[in-house]
Amino acid sequence: MSTVTSQVEIIFSDDEDEKEEKKLPNSSGIPLKRINEINQEVNNKQINHQLESSTKKHQSYFRTNLGSHLTTQSTLSQTIDYANRLGMYAIQIFNGSPMAYQRKYYDQKDILEASQKVNQRKCTCQYVFSHLPYLYNCAGSIKNHLLWSNQKNSSWEQIIKNMSYELELMSHFQTDQGGGGCVLHPGSWPDRKKGIESISQTINQLTFNPKSMLLLEICAGKGNTLGVNLGELKQIYDGVDRDLHQNLGICLDTAHIYASGCYDLSQTSQMVKMFEDFDKIFGLKKLQLVHLNDSNVAYNTKDDRHAYIGTGHIWGKSLNSLSYLLDYTQKFGIPTVLETRPDDYLIIQAL
Ligand SMILES: [Zn+2]
Repeated sequence: MSTVTSQVEIIFSDDEDEKEEKKLPNSSGIPLKRINEINQEVNNKQINHQLESSTKKHQSYFRTNLGSHLTTQSTLSQTIDYANRLGMYAIQIFNGSPMAYQRKYYDQKDILEASQKVNQRKCTCQYVFSHLPYLYNCAGSIKNHLLWSNQKNSSWEQIIKNMSYELELMSHFQTDQGGGGCVLHPGSWPDRKKGIESISQTINQLTFNPKSMLLLEICAGKGNTLGVNLGELKQIYDGVDRDLHQNLGICLDTAHIYASGCYDLSQTSQMVKMFEDFDKIFGLKKLQLVHLNDSNVAYNTKDDRHAYIGTGHIWGKSLNSLSYLLDYTQKFGIPTVLETRPDDYLIIQAL
């Protein structure tokens, strides 16, 4: 997530579906000619954005693993309804401010209603993830103590308590057909080895139920951030107690991978290599979420700045590698969510 997200928040702070639909073709920033082409493709595929009948009818036209980060509505149940009205299959939300320790609490009736909704056949939305706050640094605390040292402090306790709460909350979306979990930026620390060990130790302190999933997200590499390539993520993973490995997954963010210099995802060959390497290092089943972002910064610049799909350094010239990614993630049922703006959903469904 980055600055672009705040624009998504603004666009979607207004909960008027009619307005959103009118906005879809006009605010994308994509050249008009391309919009017309996309609209034509959309018409050809008989896309209907107000899905009211069974998902089965639409599965031959839709990629059934895609969606977007959405602004939460008043209740969890309303958020699922919202995703469903937009015809999305996977969503991500913030349970509270991304810049605050405090999380949003929902009543049990609402949690139950929301989780039952995703189990209904007519509900498109099958994957529900939350993004944990950026404040959480599982390597070091704001007082510059490594978290696993004995110098426990209030920020350490808040992180453990709030992460455990959110892991339990999102576990309600783990179903036979879909899934849910919490996405974490692992943390930062000047000494990479010690920082990575500290992150693993912090994860060992969390409370997991059998369905809780914590997804370690690859980062762009700014400053002392850790988990900036597949190797570092694997070191964090390996440092976690083995009996918790079933509760851990990985989230790949296209803009972060590109900016970190790991893979030049504008090239299809590099996209192919990224998935091959992931499969060798983790096994594909550990790839539980893809964040779809174009990059506002050039390759290997280590900055985390998202761009709308088709307007950045990755896909500004060609969408070929994006088509490959979309086909691949659909083939293997890997949920893929936009962090740019929900408008881009039209584009990725049409590709
Ligand atoms: Zn993120």
